[in-house]
Amino acid sequence: MHFDKNKYKVYTWKNWMVLHYILNPGLAINELILGQRIPKVSLEDKTSDKPFLERSYVPCPHCETLHDGRTWSTQNGTAFKNWFGLYCPNCGEIIPCLMNLTTRLVLTITFPVWGWFKKSLKQRWLEKQPARYKEIEVDQIENPFEGYGWIKEGFSWGILTSILLLIFFPIIGIEIFSRQVIVTLLSLILVGGPLFGFIMKLFFEQTGSKAA
Ligand SMILES: [Zn+2]
Repeated sequence: MHFDKNKYKVYTWKNWMVLHYILNPGLAINELILGQRIPKVSLEDKTSDKPFLERSYVPCPHCETLHDGRTWSTQNGTAFKNWFGLYCPNCGEIIPCLMNLTTRLVLTITFPVWGWFKKSLKQRWLEKQPARYKEIEVDQIENPFEGYGWIKEGFSWGILTSILLLIFFPIIGIEIFSRQVIVTLLSLILVGGPLFGFIMKLFFEQTGSKAA
């Protein structure tokens, strides 16, 4: 698919944020357990002066529909359970997605266990998809980082990341009941979280005219 480069900024794995999604091992949990997926290609309308959330699009390479990025969102109940990729409600095909490196490693190692069931699992998953997209609403979706939302989102992110680190540290032999770890996690929750929330707020609220 070709896109009007004057109108759209194209996001692929070459973008640092997308690359972070591939490399951060913590995000394997989002993919494997929650079924969160990121499309291989997404677009940002550079010419619109709306907030970021309202001008990001996901193209389907099969039917060439430009889907509103909010089609797959928690509000629509479609942000997760997308283990086999993003379902295109227009043509019923699957929009290709990126895969986190750790996810790929885990899936490769455990392939002998789940490989046998891949076909039937995928079939069953596909059958459930059309119903999930019957009442998709994109205009009502608000930016979770809007207003003071970034504080809540920031703290949740800090706490979730800390929990993941508490699971991960013992695996690589780090003692979790040490002063260093406690200080690290507290600063992650109290400083890192809100900072992340605030950066996301700025990012989502930037308008096309400013970004261009
Ligand atoms: Zn399609």
